[in-house]
Amino acid sequence: MQACVVGSGPNGLTAAIVLARAGLRTTVLETEDTIGGGARTLELTLPGFRNDLCSAIHPMALSSPAFASFPLREHGLEWIQPPLPAAHPLDDGTAAILFRDLNEASAHLGPDGPRYRRFLAPLVRNWPRLSRAILRPIHIPRHPLLLARFGMLAGPPAAVSARYFFRSPRNRALFAGIAAHAVMPLDALASGAFGWALIIAAHAAGWPLPRGGSQSIASALASYFRSLGGEIVAGARVASLDQLGNASPILLDITPKQFLEIAGNRLPASYRRKMEKYRYGPGAFKLDYALRAPIPWTSPACRNAGTVHLGGSWEEIERSEREAAGGIAPEKPLVLLTQPSLFDPTRAPAGQHTAWAYCHVPNGCEVDMTGRIEAQIERFAPGFRAIVLKRTSFSPRQMEQHNANLIGGDIMGGAHTLKQILLRPSIGFYRTPLKNVYLCSSSTPPGGGVHGMCGYNAAHLALGALSH
Ligand SMILES: Cc1cc2nc3c(=O)[nH]c(=O)nc-3n(C[C@H](O)[C@H](O)[C@H](O)COP(=O)(O)OP(=O)(O)OC[C@H]3O[C@@H](n4cnc5c(N)ncnc54)[C@H](O)[C@@H]3O)c2cc1C
Repeated sequence: MQACVVGSGPNGLTAAIVLARAGLRTTVLETEDTIGGGARTLELTLPGFRNDLCSAIHPMALSSPAFASFPLREHGLEWIQPPLPAAHPLDDGTAAILFRDLNEASAHLGPDGPRYRRFLAPLVRNWPRLSRAILRPIHIPRHPLLLARFGMLAGPPAAVSARYFFRSPRNRALFAGIAAHAVMPLDALASGAFGWALIIAAHAAGWPLPRGGSQSIASALASYFRSLGGEIVAGARVASLDQLGNASPILLDITPKQFLEIAGNRLPASYRRKMEKYRYGPGAFKLDYALRAPIPWTSPACRNAGTVHLGGSWEEIERSEREAAGGIAPEKPLVLLTQPSLFDPTRAPAGQHTAWAYCHVPNGCEVDMTGRIEAQIERFAPGFRAIVLKRTSFSPRQMEQHNANLIGGDIMGGAHTLKQILLRPSIGFYRTPLKNVYLCSSSTPPGGGVHGMCGYNAAHLALGALSH
């Protein structure tokens, strides 16, 4: 083996492809028996029901410059766009909707619409440039005006932009559900960044799901990698860097905590201390379902949405996210729900369905959130419990048992403090003090989500260093 990648998540596989394309004999070592990390689809409930273990909806995958540069379609990846990216049911039986089309979205927002459309139109139009810029570490921008415009949305807390853009409580509620994907309190600095990026992506590229589940992304990456001569070894846990002999470069699709464990005392004390201070964010408590019928939403619009946010008003959602970040398991959590089988018949037997739902809880939280999550689903879809054939729950610790990168159930690879958004996991980004050893997981820029850009950026850096 010449080059080695530890971990076969989307970032590990992307890094491996970049190395293999440059002509390096590259091996990926994966501790689990199935490859893909956060992009895996398994029969988690009943035979014939294919549930996404982690990621399900992929706005950033479709917007990823890395994935766009790989022939993934030829390797079996096919995107499906649900008619609506997201719906947000309310207690009056209606739903606020995130439409794909910017004009339709702005019409739906009523008096809030014109300002929304005016501000977002240039960002939506220039999304390929903008996404290229934000899916990298901080740098001197090539399109400063575009980035400054995005910065006006991304820098302030979500609570500030909610007040500026959305007078209507319905629209504020819709924005709260989207902004909460940041997994941070909505009054924290930069808490709007993720929500606005997801909104712009929705209008520019949609919130698609891959036919066959998120595993199809990992399988397409793996198939392309193998076509380049790469090798993947599953069931191969790397417990120490010593196992890798003189492989070079080494790219690690793992988080700082694991890096400390496998690098042993090779790391200088100052870097160790920095990595020991790296913070993990709230965890996820997740439920996977096999259902005998589609979810009986009160609002018919929810039937057409790939993602449904269940949490009611801005105030309720703001509280749920504040509590999860502050060490309290929310009584009324914001629930993020996806229903892929409505749009992709390969996920369940004919007429039956899959769904996944999760909420944010404190890191490592042991509270069983099943009842609280289902109370939120029943609130907007009475009769839901009656259609459940089987449910499987994952506490944050159980999530971590299935993927060692999910420390305490943190799905983002590290807390979104301002410092950890800008300098992730340190000012060196992918670089480590060890020669030709790089971090390339979502604990590096641009962070969480299935886009492969952490791996892509890290592998290019590694190749650049080899050529010097
Ligand atoms: C419940 C949940 C829902 C999510 N929903 C979405 C979504 O809808 N859309 C989206 O874009 N993102 C979503 N995400 C986030 C997304 O899954 C991650 O951001 C993404 O998978 C990170 O990719 P990665 O390559 O950095 O790490 P991972 O995908 O976590 O992969 C890391 C890999 O490294 C392996 N590994 C770890 N330690 C070792 C070791 N010592 N030796 C060998 N192998 C090792 C792991 O087994 C794993 O396969 C979700 C995550 C979760 C948990």
